[in-house]
This record gives sequence, C-alpha cells and structure tokens, in this order.
Amino acid sequence: MRPDDSVQLLPGLTPGALRALEGGSLRTVKDLLWHLPRRHEDRTSFRPIASLKEGKPAIVRGTVERVRSVRMRNRRTFVTVVVSDDSGRLEARWFNLPWLAKSLSAGMELVMYGRVKDGKISQPEFEIVDSDSALHVGRIVPIYPLTKGVTMRALRMAIHAALDAASELEDPLPQEIRDKRALPALGDAMRGVHFPADRAALESAKERLRYDELFGFQMAVVLQRRYQRREPGFTHRFGQELEHRILARLPFELTSAQSRAIAEIRDDLCADAPMNRLLQGDVGSGKTAVALYAALISIANRLQVAFLAPTEVLARQHQRTIREMLAGSDVAVELLVGSTKAAERRRILGALAAGEVNLLVGTHALLEPSVEFDQMGLVIVDEQHKFGVRQRAKLIRKGRRPDVLVMTATPIPRSLALTAFGDLDVSVIDELPPGRRPATTKVCSAARRGPAYKTLRAEVLAGRQAFVIYPLVEESEEIDAGSAEEGFALLRDGPLCDLRVGLVTGRTPAAERDETMRAFRSGALDVLVGTTVLEVGVDVPNASVIVVESAERFGLSTLHQLRGRVGRGGTDAYCFLVATKLTADAKARLKIMEQTSDGFRIAEEDLRMRGPGEFFGTRQHGLPEFRVADLTRDYDALRRAREDAFELLALDPKLARQPALRVELIRRFAGRFDLYDIG
Ligand code: ADP
Ligand code: MG
Repeated sequence: MRPDDSVQLLPGLTPGALRALEGGSLRTVKDLLWHLPRRHEDRTSFRPIASLKEGKPAIVRGTVERVRSVRMRNRRTFVTVVVSDDSGRLEARWFNLPWLAKSLSAGMELVMYGRVKDGKISQPEFEIVDSDSALHVGRIVPIYPLTKGVTMRALRMAIHAALDAASELEDPLPQEIRDKRALPALGDAMRGVHFPADRAALESAKERLRYDELFGFQMAVVLQRRYQRREPGFTHRFGQELEHRILARLPFELTSAQSRAIAEIRDDLCADAPMNRLLQGDVGSGKTAVALYAALISIANRLQVAFLAPTEVLARQHQRTIREMLAGSDVAVELLVGSTKAAERRRILGALAAGEVNLLVGTHALLEPSVEFDQMGLVIVDEQHKFGVRQRAKLIRKGRRPDVLVMTATPIPRSLALTAFGDLDVSVIDELPPGRRPATTKVCSAARRGPAYKTLRAEVLAGRQAFVIYPLVEESEEIDAGSAEEGFALLRDGPLCDLRVGLVTGRTPAAERDETMRAFRSGALDVLVGTTVLEVGVDVPNASVIVVESAERFGLSTLHQLRGRVGRGGTDAYCFLVATKLTADAKARLKIMEQTSDGFRIAEEDLRMRGPGEFFGTRQHGLPEFRVADLTRDYDALRRAREDAFELLALDPKLARQPALRVELIRRFAGRFDLYDIG
C-alpha cells in the first residue's frame, strides 16, 4: 500500500463508509493517516466496578449478564445492560439505539467508557471484546473525530491498515534537525500518534508532529522576512548633527530602553534592506517618541512619512503632540481622517503629492487610492493589532519599498510575537519613564462600587480628572452590562451630579467627540465617560482615576491598556474594576490586575486564560490554526523551530537539498506567504 492509494483499498470499509470518508475529503491513505486522534483512551487498565465513584469518568470491563430493550410510551426505546466483573455489577443504559439489543447478548465481554450517575452509567462509549478487538481494547486507543456514516471501529481498523504506508510518507523535516532535536521519523510518529505502544511513544510522536507545525510555520515567516528584504530600500544617512537636532526637539530625556529601540531602528534605516520592525512596549512606555525619532530621520533624508492610527481620537492626539514638539521647525505635519472636510482634504492631497507634506498622520482614510505620496520613505502603524495585514500592505504599496515600523498597544505574549509577527524584527521598550506610579488597583462587585466613586470624587475635588469606562454592548447580548449612555445618564444625575461630566462613544459624531476630548484635555471637564474608544493611546496626564464598569467583560490586555490611561502625572493613581457578574473565573482573572502592573506578565496570563484566537480579539491577527501545537504552552519548541528555520535557510537558501520540505511549505502556505525563492 502507498500513501497516495485510494481508501478503497483498505479493508473493512462498507461502501457506505467509503462514501462517507470520501465525502469528508479523506480520499487517500495519506489523508487518513493525517486524520489525527482527538484524544486517546488508556484501555490497558480498568477500574473494578465496585470502586467506581459517582460523577467520575471511568473505564470498566465486564461480562454481559442481561440485555433488555424497553419501549417507552413516547415510542422511544432504551436498552439496559447489566455487566459484571469480579467486584460487582453495573447497569448501563443507552437511549435510541434499538439495534443495540440485538448485537449484545449474555456472556459477551464489554468495555465501557463513561460517567457514573446514580450508580448507573448512561450512554457510555463501548466496545465489544472479541477476536478482533486487539485494536480497540487492552491498549492506548485512539479516539477519532467521526464522520457521519463511519463507525469508530471501522475508522480505527482502516487507519491501522493505512499505517502500512506510513514509512513511505515523504518526511519534510530534514534529517539533521531530527537528529539535533531527537525527534522520531515521520512514519514512526504516525504509528505513535495513532496506535502508541505506550505513553512515552505517544508523547514523542506528538512532540514530533507539534514540531512539524511550528517549524513549517517558522520557515514560512522567515521566508516572508527574506522576501521583504529582497531588494534594497532607502539607505538613510544619519549623523551626530541630526541626532542633536532631534534630541533637542524632545521635551524629555529618553529612557535607556527608548534609546536602545531607537538605536535598533536607526541601524535598520541606515542599512540597505528595508526595515520591518515591531516596536513592543508597555502602556505609557513612550513608543510615540521613538516613532517620531524614526520619522524625523526619514524626513531629514527628504522622504515622507505616513503615520497610521486606528481611531480619530488617537490620530488627532498624535498630530497635536507632534506639532507641539516640532513647533517653529519647517516640518509640515498634516492630519487626514474620515471627517476631514472635502476642501481641506483636496488641499492636503495636493500638497502630499507635490512632496510638501513631510508627515501625514491619519486613520484608515490614508489607505484610500486617492492618497498619493511623492516620495514615501517610512510607514508607521500605531496599535498594529487593529489593522489587518492587507491594510498594512495597502499603505506600504504607496511607496517604493519604504521602511516599516509597527507598534503594539500593549505587550504581546512571546509566542504570539514569534508567529503573528514572526516576519518582523522586534524591539522592546521594557521600562517606563521616570515618575510613573503604578495605579492602585481594586476589584469590587457592583454592590460595592460606592468607595470607587468616593475616591473618584475626592480626586476630582483635589483638581484631578477621571475616566469611567463601559463595555460595548452588542445588540444580541443582554443589556445587563449597562451601556455607556445609560451609565452616563445615571452618573450625571446621581453620584456625579455636581461634577462636569462628558461622554464619548463610538456613536458620538466626530465633531462632538473632538470637542469633548478637547474639553477634557483642557480641564473643562472633570470626568470622561466612554467605551473602549478611549482604550487606545489617549494621553491626559492629569487623569488619576479610572473606573471600569463590567470589568469582567474585558480581556486582561484591554484592562491593562485602560489602566495605563492614569498614573502619568506623577501622583497617586487608582483603578477600580467593577464586576457585574463576579464569577470565580472572572475573579481569578481580575485578581491578576491587582497583583501586577507588568504588561508582559499580564499578556502571558491573558494568553494562557483565553487562548491565542481570543488574545487579539480580532480576526486580523494572521495566526495559523495549529492542530497539535499550542501557542499557550509551546513557546520553547517554537523558539527552537525558529532557530532551526534560520539555520537551515542560511545553509541551503533555496532548499535545494530538501525537496519534501519545499513541497510541504508550498502546499501549506502558498498564497498566504511570499515563499520567496523556493518555488
Ligand atoms: P505609549 O507607549 O503607550 O504609546 P506614549 O508614547 O503615549 O506611550 O507616552 C506616554 C507619555 O509618556 C506621554 O505623555 C509622553 O510624553 C511621556 N513620555 C514618553 N517618553 C518619556 C520620557 N522618556 N520621559 C518622560 N516622559 C515620557
Ligand atoms: Mg501609543
């Protein structure tokens, strides 16, 4: 038997089962081998019936004593079977399997897997022990995802037969790497993952398949990285004089972490290959200043810079801070957002195309085809996770191989950085500017939110300002969370009636939103009520309190990001997380916020609790779906895989000696990655 043979050659499959398999795209022996078990069941040791515990899952083996089929008044049937072993007797029942009564009879050996309730076992998975039971009982048994029309037993037998061809599968993992990492060959791993001889064999098989997934993915991102650097971009010039000029513009001393990131970016800009760098830093670590530094190098080299931000609020804020820092210089900074008036827009686009705009800050409006640069040298993307890969690419295509700097809102877990951003180089700002104090954080239930608002009032009366944040309420959800609008009305007419309170949500018209933000920033408002529109980047140093309502609905990274809005003014700051439904799980999650203000730690916890798909909270993260690997757990393997990918491509750049790997990479990643130079 060969891997490419049809499943029709496998024994024991009825025509119906064959149709079902082929319908489920399991057409060849190889397809079947890659139909991996969902889990395994250790059927080497069984529990004596007498020792079964209520509510616990158990596997028992016994002899059938009696079979009865009962027809209920509603014409449904259930089958009860009494099974005994040396220690006792157990009743099992199945509903709606009338044929079962005919296939079971006294004296048969039965293995059952299920949960015991009221002394009985209901709807257990079962296996009849007979002469050809060797695959199903008395070993570690694979449990497969089932396709309708194929029984577990038939599938097991077919896959067991298919394993004859396992040694003939092309092994894409290079021998050197297998040796170096002590991983089994693919054929052995296949046997081990389907019908392992023991636990150790299963583990080593899984480790190998996990490695395959991670290594393949790292090969793809490393190739992508190579693709991005295949042709030279702009080689910037940078000298002491420019350095002094830029530093003189910044209103503060850079932290050493900022300086380190800047040095890395500067080296990229001065090199031939275009920069492709991710700037990671905790909330408030000062990523904007680093981005501005990069922008000024580019502008000094007579190139234009595009600065993309996810919201108008943030774009405006960036434009304003940058204009302030550059006041009196001849750098032309403009803002282009959705609400920019037509005449203003025409003026900006004209000036941009003529090369008269040096730095264009904006939102998605920058991506439109009518936005044309004269000579775009640098693209900066703030809060990168709010944009898709495609949007990033759209902006980049407006230049000729521009340098690219993307920034994240909060730290992202190490393993996600190596996958979702695996094609990028990474700089980390792991230090906050001096004078920051972590906000004192308290979790409380809705009934105990009184002290939170008391502190808020006290701070406002002492001249500080505050945020109150509500979750977005989608229409389909219960409205128990209370929307920002309702909350605003309640607060304004209730506990905060004597304070100046403003409201900003996603629904607020742009002009009104700007006005409210301006009022808050200037101190004309004491409290700003809003949704997560305020999550990203808003910088008002006089704010010292933030209350997050229905905090259990937010991811930890979002909460961390929100908390980062306060504590920037050098005085004490407070963060209250008010939980509407304080379940044990929510409590455990929110407690972490009380315990640490280290964004990198919070990110890891967030990943561990919510999983990679949820972490970014958007479909645009570009994470692959792994079947065996698990990014919440496999960081070390991921790092090894990345190291091996770099090493292999350095030795064998076109994978000339690895045809199987090449084929595999193209099969898995063509279309999604630019597999430069191996196709
Ligand atoms: P983030 O990394 O979250 O985007 P920002 O760039 O908005 O942070 O910076 C947060 C605040 O810290 C801003 O008010 C900024 O002016 C200030 N800041 C940045 N770097 C420094 C520094 N080296 N010293 C003092 N303040 C700084
Ligand atoms: Mg920022």
